[in-house]
Amino acid sequence: APLFGRLERQAPDALLAIIGLHRADPRPGKIDVGVGVYRDATGATPVMRAVKAAEARLLATQDTKSYLGPEGDQRFTDLLAPIALGGALAADGRITGVQTPGGTGALRLAAELIAVADAERAVWIGTPTWPNHAPIFRAAGLTVRTQAYYDAAQSRVDFDAFLAGLTQARAGDVVLLHGCCHNPTGTGFAHHEWAVLAKEIARRGLIPLVDLAYQGLGQGLEEDAAGMHVVLNGVPEAMVAYSCDKNFALYRERVGALWVQADRPAMALPVRENMLVLARSLWSMPPDHGAAIVRTILEEPALTSDWRDELTQMCGRIRSLRAILGAAHPALAPIARQDGLFALLPIGRETVAALRAEHGIYMPDSGRINIAGLNDETVARFVAALLPHLK
Ligand code: PMP
Repeated sequence: APLFGRLERQAPDALLAIIGLHRADPRPGKIDVGVGVYRDATGATPVMRAVKAAEARLLATQDTKSYLGPEGDQRFTDLLAPIALGGALAADGRITGVQTPGGTGALRLAAELIAVADAERAVWIGTPTWPNHAPIFRAAGLTVRTQAYYDAAQSRVDFDAFLAGLTQARAGDVVLLHGCCHNPTGTGFAHHEWAVLAKEIARRGLIPLVDLAYQGLGQGLEEDAAGMHVVLNGVPEAMVAYSCDKNFALYRERVGALWVQADRPAMALPVRENMLVLARSLWSMPPDHGAAIVRTILEEPALTSDWRDELTQMCGRIRSLRAILGAAHPALAPIARQDGLFALLPIGRETVAALRAEHGIYMPDSGRINIAGLNDETVARFVAALLPHLK
């Protein structure tokens, strides 16, 4: 029998289907709030200024494309650590990090590391979440369990339900947390909730895995990592899966890192050696160019500050659109208090279909919108189309 004869059809990615429909729509006023990348006011996802400058330098100075190791560009990871982890944790001898192909690669490497350490540990994921989370952990052979995270009726974190979910976990299980800019809800833990969470996670002997994929696109670089720092400081063991693909707008270059915090400095080296062995069989070594760009930016103060400025400006654009949406209707008010690219609209799939058919507004059936898909002109038309459907 043919090897591939038993393979079944697979549904295409729902968002890719939306992109296709949007592209085929001839109406000039069509609006795409589906695709999950930052866009400027003209709808473009530009290469950042500091990235262009760093690429020009790399082109002029790079003198070899020879192999690096499975850890990738170690200087990239070391320069990124103080931004992601803060100075104190970055200098903590219990923490070790390697470059990965994007945040996805970091999550997959974390999953494989959990599986070789103890495949019986379940991974707990709050719902809803990024649709790729569960498949990544299952691909490593781990059991995924879900717990409630979001109260859709109130558009807020259901913190009591989330804590109740943690009581179901066995000591030693892993808990996935979005560090900031929750995908798809935009809704994160409040300061005091992070502190409670850190205590509960420690008390129950759980291991946090923080997915930090949008640092700097919420309230600012430092603010967006503050909750995660509270958790890392409160527990013996933890993991951080980091993506530079949004905050450096490097998406297709696949830039990320995985940090693992061991319970004592002597365990950092065995942890690291296992990460390297796993990386070897997953991708041998991560692609270099994107990480080299980030390293070049972080090595040079002028480029670093230009990157920070442009990121702050991107973040400001998202925040001002959030303010406009939040002021448009009481049912949208939570959007002004949320962070990052995404919000879940309080509408059903019939409304999503009606917005598409009648107004050329494109979003997935979940009602998740990418705020950055709007601008000062389209946001008014978007709100006008939406208002009749809100309660
Ligand atoms: N985590 C979350 C929550 C995300 O939304 C994404 C990207 N959509 C990722 C991780 C993965 O990012 P990357 O493109 O760097 O793999």
